[in-house]
Amino acid sequence: MEKHINVIGAGLAGSEVAYQIAKQKINVKLYEMKPTKYSPAHSNPNFAEIVCSNSLKSNLLTNACGLLKEELRRLDSLLIKTADETSVPAGQALAVDRDIFAKKVTEEIRKNEYIDVIECNVGEDVRVKDLIKNNITIICTGPLTSDELAKEIQEITGQNKLYFYDAVAPIVLKDSIDFDIAFYGDRYVQEKKKDETIEQWKQRINNCSENSYINLPFSKQEYEDFCKELIDAEVVTLHDFEKREIFEGCMPIEIMAKRGIDTLRFGPLKPVGFDDPRTGKRPYAVVQLRQDNKKASLYNLVGFQTNLKFGEQKRVFSMIPGLKNAEFVKYGVMHRNTYLNSPKLLDETYRFRNNHNLYFAGQITGVEGYVESISSGMVAGLNAIEQFKNGENCRKIIFSENTVIGALAKYISTDSDNFAPMNANFGILPELEGKRIKDKKERYMKLAQRSLQEF
Ligand SMILES: Cc1cc2nc3c(=O)[nH]c(=O)nc-3n(C[C@H](O)[C@H](O)[C@H](O)COP(=O)(O)OP(=O)(O)OC[C@H]3O[C@@H](n4cnc5c(N)ncnc54)[C@H](O)[C@@H]3O)c2cc1C
Repeated sequence: MEKHINVIGAGLAGSEVAYQIAKQKINVKLYEMKPTKYSPAHSNPNFAEIVCSNSLKSNLLTNACGLLKEELRRLDSLLIKTADETSVPAGQALAVDRDIFAKKVTEEIRKNEYIDVIECNVGEDVRVKDLIKNNITIICTGPLTSDELAKEIQEITGQNKLYFYDAVAPIVLKDSIDFDIAFYGDRYVQEKKKDETIEQWKQRINNCSENSYINLPFSKQEYEDFCKELIDAEVVTLHDFEKREIFEGCMPIEIMAKRGIDTLRFGPLKPVGFDDPRTGKRPYAVVQLRQDNKKASLYNLVGFQTNLKFGEQKRVFSMIPGLKNAEFVKYGVMHRNTYLNSPKLLDETYRFRNNHNLYFAGQITGVEGYVESISSGMVAGLNAIEQFKNGENCRKIIFSENTVIGALAKYISTDSDNFAPMNANFGILPELEGKRIKDKKERYMKLAQRSLQEF
C-alpha cells in the first residue's frame, strides 16, 4: 500500500477513526487482534464491540452525553449514525442492538476500498516503533489493550506513564451540595484551639473557605443508618481478571464497612481534627470532598472507591448529610483500565507530544465511556487527516471548550495532579456568562445552545 495512516484497534474509537480517514480517500491500515486474540471482555469477532451496557446514555440535549452525540452527528460520525439506525426502545436514552450495531459498522469498514484490515496483535506481531517511522499511527486499543502492546507503549512513553486499573471515587457537582450542612476546612486547621475564643475560631475558619476540603458531618444516627444501607447495597459482579488487581490496590468502601460499625469512622470518615462550625463540636464522622478540577466545579468523595451499582451509589451516597440532592457527574468504578497519563503526554488533538507521527484515541487517553471514546477518535482522526495532507506543522483542529467534544480534549491534555478518566458532563464546560441560572435544566439547555451555536 502507498502512503497511508495506521489505525490500531477496531473498537469504538478505531472504527470511527478509520471511517473518517477513508472518507477523505486516504488509505488506512487497520490492525485488529480479533478474532486471533480476544481481551477478557470481548467475545464478538466484529468491530466496534459494545462490551457491557447496550446504552449510549441519554439523547437529551440537557444531558452532556446527549449533547456530545448531537455534536458527533453534526460531524457525520459513522458510529452515532449506526447507533441511531440500530436503536432499541429505551426512553430518552440511545440504546442499541449490540450485535446488529457491530455487524453494520464492520460491514461499512470491510467494504471500504481505502481500508485494509490486518489481523494481528500489535506489540507482538508488529511493533509500533516500526509503524511510526514512516506513517502517522493512531493507537485505539482501549482499556484492555493487549499486554504486549501495553509494554511497548510504556517503552515509548516512558516508565510510569501508564495506569492499569481504575479505582475512581464518585464525583459530584459542587453546586448541588447543600452548604447549610457542608463546611469548608482542612483537618486540624479546622479544629478550635484551646486558647481561642469562639469568635477568633470562627473568623479563622471563615478565612480558609473555598481553598480546602468540603466536609460533610454525620450525627451518630445518620452514620449508623448510612453504614447499614452501604453494607446491604447491591454490587457489580466483577470479571475474574478484575478481582485480583482491584483488591491488591485498594479497598472498596462497602467492604471496609462490613468489617465493623466503627471501621469507617476510624478510617476514611474519621472526624479527627474538625469541629463543626455550626455547633462547635466534633461530628461523629466526616466525609471529605476533594476538589477535582481546576475550576472547582467538581468534587470527589475521598476514600469512596466502590463496586456498588450506579443506582445504589446514588441511593446510598445521597444519604450522606449535604448530598441529599447531589448531582453525581460520575459514579465510582473499579475495573481494569489501561490509560495514559495524558496531560503529560498528549496535546488537545490527542497527538503524542514527543513524536508527532503518533496519536492515541479512545478510552486509553483517559476519556471514559462509549460516546466519549468515539468523540476522541473523531478529534484524533480529523487532525491526523490534516497532518497527512499538510505536513507536521499543519493547523490543529481544536474544538471550542464550550463544546463537549472540545472540553473532553482539553481535559485530557490539561495538567493535573491526580488525573483520572472522565466522562462527558457539564462540569468540564466553562460556566455561562452573566447571572447564574438556578434551574438546572434551563442552565444545561443554555450550555447546549451555546455549544451548538459555536459548532
Ligand atoms: C468491562 C468493561 C465494561 C465497560 N462498560 C461500559 C459501559 O457500560 N458504558 C460505557 O459507556 N463504557 C463502558 N466501558 C468503557 C469504554 O467505554 C469501553 O471500553 C469502550 O469500548 C472503549 O472504546 P475504545 O475504542 O477505546 O476501546 P475498545 O472498544 O475496547 O476497542 C479496542 C480494540 O482494540 C483491540 N486491541 C487491543 N489490543 C490490541 C493490539 N495489541 N493489537 C490490535 N488490536 C488490539 C481490541 O480487540 C478492540 O477491538 C467499559 C469498559 C470495560 C473494560
